[in-house]
Amino acid sequence: MSDSMNASSQRGSCTLVGAGPGDPELLTLKAVKAIQAATVLLVDDLVGDDILAYARPGARIVHVGKRGGCRSTPQAFIERLMISAVQEGETVVRLKGGDPFIFGRGGEEVEHLRAAGIEARVVNGITAGLAAVSALGVPLTHRDHAQGVLFVTGHAKTGEASSERATDWRQLAATARDARLTLVIYMGVTGVAHIQDELLHGLAGETPVAVIQHASLPQQRHVATTLARLRTDLAAAGMASPAIIVVGDVLRGMAAAEASPTRFGT
Ligand code: SAH
Repeated sequence: MSDSMNASSQRGSCTLVGAGPGDPELLTLKAVKAIQAATVLLVDDLVGDDILAYARPGARIVHVGKRGGCRSTPQAFIERLMISAVQEGETVVRLKGGDPFIFGRGGEEVEHLRAAGIEARVVNGITAGLAAVSALGVPLTHRDHAQGVLFVTGHAKTGEASSERATDWRQLAATARDARLTLVIYMGVTGVAHIQDELLHGLAGETPVAVIQHASLPQQRHVATTLARLRTDLAAAGMASPAIIVVGDVLRGMAAAEASPTRFGT
């Protein structure tokens, strides 16, 4: 590790690969090729065994998920592991759910690798928010309903000493209303009551909302509701992470059978 800041320290390679939302058939060809070529794979929580099945026999698979709330120390550990494996000449793949550059801390990893003299490649994946709405057969944009999309994290940081600023949900609601944008909220289930209360300052109670859990996987299920009923219907359905919350009039395009006030599961 002593030469980790040396600009010429690269020997192997590192590729950040998006594993998509879960269904292995949603991997890109580039992702499959990178996984097959890897000698070391550093794998996040949300990446399933169906996807790891593409790894070559003998590849070292390291699960580096961060479940349990602790974030900073494991992240630094993961980055050190990536750097030392590249310096040892390994073909490293950092496998992340969805797309590596959407809420995956991929940007930070690229910066730390670069500081160690390592240029990472990036292979995009289908992000969960995109897969989640497509699973319902609705588009993220529609000329009649939404002129754009906001991908936003619902991960609450309120009350903690943190450099991350709390999301201004009232501002987002007003912007989504005035600019006609679909809101796609990642990591929002835990903080849903707060998000709902704040969004109601700018968006009508009857605004359609859908929550999709395990998008693209066999256990996928969803709740279709309204902003006014969001926390009640989510609790009744027992919906938990990983799930995407979608807010906006594009959901009016859901099939008629889905349009009942509340529908649980599939
Ligand atoms: N980089 C990932 C997001 C990582 S943040 C991507 O582009 O998709 C993790 C959050 O993503 C989860 O809390 C959940 O909100 C969402 N997520 C990931 N996979 C999902 C899936 N299959 N179904 C629904 N939500 C998912």
